[in-house]
Amino acid sequence: MSGERKSPNIIITGTPGVGKTTHCESLAQRLGLRHISVNEVVKDKECHEGWDEELTCWIVDEDKLLDAIEDDVEQGGCILDWHACDVFPQRWIDLVVVLRVDSTTLYDRLKARNYPEVKLQENLDSEIMEVLLQEAHDSYDSEIVIELTSNTSDEMESNIDRIEAWVKQWKLDNQEV
Ligand code: ADP
Ligand code: MG
Repeated sequence: MSGERKSPNIIITGTPGVGKTTHCESLAQRLGLRHISVNEVVKDKECHEGWDEELTCWIVDEDKLLDAIEDDVEQGGCILDWHACDVFPQRWIDLVVVLRVDSTTLYDRLKARNYPEVKLQENLDSEIMEVLLQEAHDSYDSEIVIELTSNTSDEMESNIDRIEAWVKQWKLDNQEV
């Protein structure tokens, strides 16, 4: 349900390194959507209960996070960039894009980011086991979840074109009559 929104809200999710931020930046530029980097919100607005040394990530306070982004998201036209997607209320979200990459590509990208071997392997396993795809299907209506591959810049261009076409159609379908 999109309510009063004039522009849709989209989640771009997937394992670290699949290309979420790159896609979001391009979509924000091309379509004028607001790029919300959820990791940055968690950090900057302190929506967490500290740093988990073992998992090397913030222990997210989900209520604080939702409060921090609520006003923006309720206006619509937001593109949420995060490696998790199960915290946002279904009524906020119009499309969930799960980006996927081949293992060798992901390995190279995470290696280039100097991920420690254990962390790298965990993320590769997560990608192979389709953890984020499953999480998206468990959290949202399957008809709003799409899976797109992001191994090459050509694939990325075609993803952006597809999402742009989808946004235009959404706006036509949700125009006030
Ligand atoms: P994420 O936000 O999912 O962790 P990034 O957008 O930071 O991923 O991308 C990780 C790395 O992979 C970056 O160096 C980026 O330039 C590269 N990259 C992302 N998507 C593609 C793609 N479709 N083709 C080639 N390189 C890509
Ligand atoms: Mg990112």
